[in-house]
Amino acid sequence: PHGRITNFGAGPSALPVEVLEEAAQGLLNFEGTGIGIAEISHRSKEFTAYLAGVEAQIRTQLAVPPTHTILFLQGGGTAQFSAIVLNMLARHRLLHPDLPERERVLDYVLTGSWSAAAAKEAARLAAGATVHIAADARTLSPSGAAFDRIPPRSAYAFSPAPALIYYCENETVSGTQFATDPADPASFPFDLLPSGTLLPLVGDHSSSFMSRPIPRLADHAIVYAGAQKNVGPAGLTVAIVRQDCIVDVDAAARLGGAPVPTALAYAPFAKQLSMPNTPPVFALYVTGLVLRHSAALGGVEHYAAVNRRKQAKVYAALRAGEAKGVLRGHVQPGSASWMNVVFNVLGDGAEARFLAGAEAQGMKGLKGHRSVGGIRASLYNAVTEEEVDKLVAYMHEFIEQAP
Ligand code: PMP
Repeated sequence: PHGRITNFGAGPSALPVEVLEEAAQGLLNFEGTGIGIAEISHRSKEFTAYLAGVEAQIRTQLAVPPTHTILFLQGGGTAQFSAIVLNMLARHRLLHPDLPERERVLDYVLTGSWSAAAAKEAARLAAGATVHIAADARTLSPSGAAFDRIPPRSAYAFSPAPALIYYCENETVSGTQFATDPADPASFPFDLLPSGTLLPLVGDHSSSFMSRPIPRLADHAIVYAGAQKNVGPAGLTVAIVRQDCIVDVDAAARLGGAPVPTALAYAPFAKQLSMPNTPPVFALYVTGLVLRHSAALGGVEHYAAVNRRKQAKVYAALRAGEAKGVLRGHVQPGSASWMNVVFNVLGDGAEARFLAGAEAQGMKGLKGHRSVGGIRASLYNAVTEEEVDKLVAYMHEFIEQAP
């Protein structure tokens, strides 16, 4: 309907058509108020009630424990690269005021360009503190430069008492993702983390949020996600923050840290139901509609089952293409993302041919990220199994016709 094609884009990405139809209605008249969603006061009783509903949807569908507060923030994942450093260093300073600055250590696990970008921002902001790379998947790749796998357990070296431990659950560009089964060698090594204190564990779940349950959510200090992949439009970031990480950043600054910008501090958002200032009203509205839609289908468990099948079909086609020497996956089997399947089409001009053929069949958004090249098929929640079947049929057709 509406002349829409199939969108395999990596983000912003496809949203359910039913939700977009509802949202179009809401732009004209939000919940019977006679005022459109982009025009209504965020302090109106209708909007504040709606916002509480969005919070409740996330809390229920992800089973967020009462120890954690759900915050709605702005500035995308990129603002969180900074916010987590500033808030977690403030927390560490309040806990250990007398520690020499360089002994405040920030541990980063690098599995792709987004965790690398977060570590780079930490190095900019950490002033005298130390950024420690607890694992770098690149060093394990044949070229020494590619993010093509989740590190084996032997490759991690965590610090004994870091101020934060950072990882990116799903790397949107390289297409690497941690496994959810703790017995899987590509799962996150929770058992190797320092024990005995509340873990300062921070996970970027931007491109896998709501696609399946989050392993060990309760053990995280912060899980955050930009909305613009599985749950809504750009402009909204959801952060699930354990309450001991919502600290008085001004009290920490009096002990020696730099002041934290109000818009990046968690405490004002926690105190004022995510509205110390005007929130991204429209993005929150659409996200609420997506979550209602997903709840009606069976929530995150429903998507986990569908997404498991979707990725299995695409990787099976990729393996068939590899066997014929037509395609080559970017990621080691076992470390590959359910959400972003990254591969090359071998031969001169073959990738352009693959993309043009896909487009002729109404499939767009398959061009890989400029830093990796090749093809990237993003299989977010709103991409249906039927649409994935169509891509898989096209891949097989392409493989068969290859010279
Ligand atoms: N983390 C991940 C995993 C991402 O995919 C992205 C963006 N695609 C970001 C962080 C950065 O998010 P933003 O563009 O919202 O700043």
